[in-house]
Amino acid sequence: MAAEVPTTNSSTTTRSLIAPSFDTVPDKLEQRFSTEDACAEYLASLRWADGWVCPQCMGADAWRVRRKHWRCRQCRYEMSVTTGTIFQDSHLPLTIWFRAMWQLTSQKNGISALGLQRVLGLASYKTAWAMLHKLRRAMVRPGRDRLDGVVEVDETYWGGEETGAIGRRTALKALIIVAAQEDGNGIGRIRLRSIPDVTRASLHGFIAQAIAPGSTVRTDGLPAYLGMNGYVHDRQIQRRQEEGEHLLPRVHRVISLLKRWLLGTHQGAIGQGHLDDYLDDYLDEFTFRFNRRALKSRGKLFYRLAQQSMQTDPVPFATLVKPQPIVLGGVK
Ligand SMILES: [Zn+2]
Repeated sequence: MAAEVPTTNSSTTTRSLIAPSFDTVPDKLEQRFSTEDACAEYLASLRWADGWVCPQCMGADAWRVRRKHWRCRQCRYEMSVTTGTIFQDSHLPLTIWFRAMWQLTSQKNGISALGLQRVLGLASYKTAWAMLHKLRRAMVRPGRDRLDGVVEVDETYWGGEETGAIGRRTALKALIIVAAQEDGNGIGRIRLRSIPDVTRASLHGFIAQAIAPGSTVRTDGLPAYLGMNGYVHDRQIQRRQEEGEHLLPRVHRVISLLKRWLLGTHQGAIGQGHLDDYLDDYLDEFTFRFNRRALKSRGKLFYRLAQQSMQTDPVPFATLVKPQPIVLGGVK
């Protein structure tokens, strides 16, 4: 796993990494990031951790001209520190974004949109909801930090029985694929994604995105897993088993934790159909938190989220309110 606090060889002290000094006391966060200037400086320290590079002339020097804007000393090119990140085009103050990130990372199980709206005193539920979804898009970056070593992979259904939605039982089932890295007897990192079906294309597509080539992929006997390119396939054929015993114990542990979290934190505030449309966002939040569960400091979790938010493309609101590709069914 990558070090949680990257080192920087930058010679400019002003833009070197500012590791969060607060820990579990929200007051300290609010103190430290109580102004737009403080938030903008912090984001700049994340964005230009190795020093400013002008996108126009490659100049290495810039200064802040106003609030979120920096200007190249060489060619005068000016840009906002939030351009090209999830904070782009937001009309909300950065202080609100920072408090939202803190709420999301400082609580063991995260926070619902309704909870966030209340804590931040926002007039609009939709605003709180959109912020959370944008932040979730920054939590897992597809194709990066892929799992390696020995990785268990299996699928599960979400919806239907768990919610007791009578009459909609089959209509709202979503299929989720889970990868869990082996770490001794325990679980290393994980990856999750909703998939439309259990075809070869869906399964292999996920594996390519989530697991580094050369790794060993352990699956059950499902034929669609056969023929993986660039991986060692450890195929576990189903035998008679004791009750509660699994050939793929890690993925099953992850699945049970995931379902508990989805029911506990989000079920009350969000209807099942809605949850379905944004399932991948929730899977990413679960993954983000799970993969960093060993971090003692909530401040580091905050730091990670802020850092990745700066590396994630803008998420226009229109793409949020438009439901993502449907992940219904799976029984074909
Ligand atoms: Zn320049």
